[in-house]
Amino acid sequence: MRLTSLSNLSLLSLAVGLSFANTAQAARPEAPNLSNAEFQQCLDGLKNSSKFRGVDSFTFNNYRPAQPDPSVIQSLNYQPEFQKDVWDYLSALVDKERVEDGIRAKRQWSDTLRQIESRYGVKAEHVLGVWGVESNFGQTLGKKPLFESLATLSCFDRRQSYFRGEFANALKIVQRGDIAPSDMTGSWAGAFGQTQFMPSTFLDLAVDFDGDGRRDLVNSVPDALASTANFLKNRGYRSGEPWGYEVKLPDGYWAASSRKNKKTISHWRNQGIKLANGGALPSDLSSAGLLLPAGIEGPAFLVGKNFDTFYSYNASENYALAIAHLSDLVTREDSSKTDFATAWPTDDPGISRQQAKDIQQALLNAGYDIGGVDGIIGDNTRTAIQQYQSSKGIFPADGRAGQKFYRAIVGNTAPTRSQYGNQYNQPATSQPLNPASTDRMGQLIQKQTTTSSNTYSAQPATQSSTSSKTRYRRVTSADGTIQLIRVDEGL
Ligand code: CA
Repeated sequence: MRLTSLSNLSLLSLAVGLSFANTAQAARPEAPNLSNAEFQQCLDGLKNSSKFRGVDSFTFNNYRPAQPDPSVIQSLNYQPEFQKDVWDYLSALVDKERVEDGIRAKRQWSDTLRQIESRYGVKAEHVLGVWGVESNFGQTLGKKPLFESLATLSCFDRRQSYFRGEFANALKIVQRGDIAPSDMTGSWAGAFGQTQFMPSTFLDLAVDFDGDGRRDLVNSVPDALASTANFLKNRGYRSGEPWGYEVKLPDGYWAASSRKNKKTISHWRNQGIKLANGGALPSDLSSAGLLLPAGIEGPAFLVGKNFDTFYSYNASENYALAIAHLSDLVTREDSSKTDFATAWPTDDPGISRQQAKDIQQALLNAGYDIGGVDGIIGDNTRTAIQQYQSSKGIFPADGRAGQKFYRAIVGNTAPTRSQYGNQYNQPATSQPLNPASTDRMGQLIQKQTTTSSNTYSAQPATQSSTSSKTRYRRVTSADGTIQLIRVDEGL
């Protein structure tokens, strides 16, 4: 769904009416009315505040936004309407298309990746896994003007102190000449470039790897890949260790998912756990936790420290699993089978991005206004699916796009050739950044950290900030929704 179609949503919600009130409640906040006078007054205060000490006034005035952007406050307070199961999440993030793109990227950048591996000790496919999941191999960078987003978040609603630091850091990046101002676009929350770093992470960990003296994570693939490796190394990556592996639990085994509760491999051997193919657990992990994304009935994984470094990139276990799984498939150079050895506990598995596009095209053909075909099943598409299901008597009318719905709406007609072919033959496109549905974990986390505050008045920049040390991590879901969660030390 695109920003231009946001206004259609309220109409659509009205049209859906009360029959879906239980599942599609009004989770999307209205775009607030932000006073530009208050905004400009706030920016005047910021300019002279301690956080902006390293920003010269030419830079500040040059990139000072003329207007606030209310849509970023809307995104900040968004609560997804639909929950997403882990199998839906993984099937969109690790599909045949992305594995093939990863294999192609591995060949194209093999020399660079080899140099990065020897400098940072990070396996090439692990870097590729992050790159592929994080920015679709550099194709999905986000289009929101960063200064407008960060300045607005610095002056309105929650987490102003955090965003003021990021706003100042974004200005410093341009001031230092690392990134061209016109390239400073990204997600609503300020993550940008091929690595989707926040400005503070950029200043800490971005590296110049192509030797031109600039750390250009927007236009330079070597800079982006090396910066990703540098990030993983900084978070404790162990050279030569795998991220972990899929395993097979013994019959009758019961355990809770416990990634953080690391044990030795001999401990897990004693529990009767084997590799998914039945082989004995290898000794190449110093310690591992048992990850059960869908409980004991679904695929099981032993994950080591390097899995945690993926997690620290984006605080979602499902997201880290997507990076891990993609890197395995790219290592094997096999895109023919993207499933795990153990099936997910569902009789209705998830769909690929191509299948999502085919569903969207079929909905458009059937007269549903879903904004466009982008392969991302967001709230607009799900609402349309729900309406379609109801009109055809498909039960349950839950708005979910799984294999069964794919067969119901696309199966009997020739699949529509998507206008989105191989990304390498296409100009760079950006994922829509307005709110869409999210994974279950992201939603749970967000609920815990969301305040009920609904006020949008700007606060003076001089206000003391007791939370200036608070750090946040992004949680990005398969459909591009980005949330911030508070980071506890040792997470
Ligand atoms: Ca460079």
